[in-house]
Amino acid sequence: MKKIVTLGEILVEIMAVDRGQSFRAPGTLVGPFASGAPAIFIDQVAKLGQPCGIVSCVGDDDFGWLNIERLRGDGVDVSAIRVHPEQVTGSAFVRYQENGERDFVFNIKNSACGHISMTEQAEKLLAGCDHFHIMGSSLFSFRIIDVIKKAIEIVKGNGGTVSFDPNIRKEMLNIPEMRAALEFMLEYCDIFLPSGPEISLLTEADDEETAIREILDMGVSSIVVKRGPKGSSYYDAERSVHGRSFPVEELDPTGAGDCFGATYVTCRLQGRSVEEALRYANASGARTVTRKGPMEGASSFAELDAFIASHEVAA
Ligand code: ADP
Repeated sequence: MKKIVTLGEILVEIMAVDRGQSFRAPGTLVGPFASGAPAIFIDQVAKLGQPCGIVSCVGDDDFGWLNIERLRGDGVDVSAIRVHPEQVTGSAFVRYQENGERDFVFNIKNSACGHISMTEQAEKLLAGCDHFHIMGSSLFSFRIIDVIKKAIEIVKGNGGTVSFDPNIRKEMLNIPEMRAALEFMLEYCDIFLPSGPEISLLTEADDEETAIREILDMGVSSIVVKRGPKGSSYYDAERSVHGRSFPVEELDPTGAGDCFGATYVTCRLQGRSVEEALRYANASGARTVTRKGPMEGASSFAELDAFIASHEVAA
């Protein structure tokens, strides 16, 4: 079976309990939850029974061990998670505005995450990797961008494939080096997984169709656009396929895109068709938003089959 590896931040997430709660006054919080976009992604891969691992760094503290034990328990190879004796595990405090939008207080760059490097264990894990996944949120320092570039070279050198989910904020694009890093990721990626509005951020195009054509022309073999409650769409040079969404009540959107991407990539590496991969990925994203906590909605194939069966009947 093919092995999937990712590299990036591992965090704990601590959430405000009530909608509209402020962080400028004391309030009730819930957590810590295991988190970090690459960690959520790889946990979802493991839940589907696919061999996988993550290159990262945590502190030698309860937050770090909570993540390591959670990932290991779900089947992720944690051998390349460095436990840094002098650093503290990264964190994200999240609160929900009345309209459901999220506000974060992050401590990533100045946490153990800032010390992710190409260790011997990382090189070993990457040497056995068939597919490498990158999250835009992991491109938070020039140091980590260099490590990611090295990882891509190792995996591509061994004939592996690469996927890239930009999950990027507009402000990041104002840094010239960041735009260059994103263009590098696009140049090497086989599967590009943007959310609807992100598709245009990386091109000069005014409309989605032109942006998609521009990105395919750059050499990206396939694009899967995530459209929240509207499902997702696949594009390659020859065709496009739309995957319909599953109607659910959204409780917590965190992790939907990560679980979607993990499920899509895993299905494709298992040789499943685009249509089947989109169906499972849409189910995976939809199921995630019905659970509170970033990693709590990750699903097994049995859970996805049950979800699809019950929702298709309901539709
Ligand atoms: P991201 O978190 O990367 O912006 P999306 O919000 O588009 O990604 O979510 C990823 C996928 O999860 C969507 O393409 C869809 O399949 C599923 N999804 C997300 N939100 C919902 C929702 N409210 N109802 C049904 N499916 C959803």
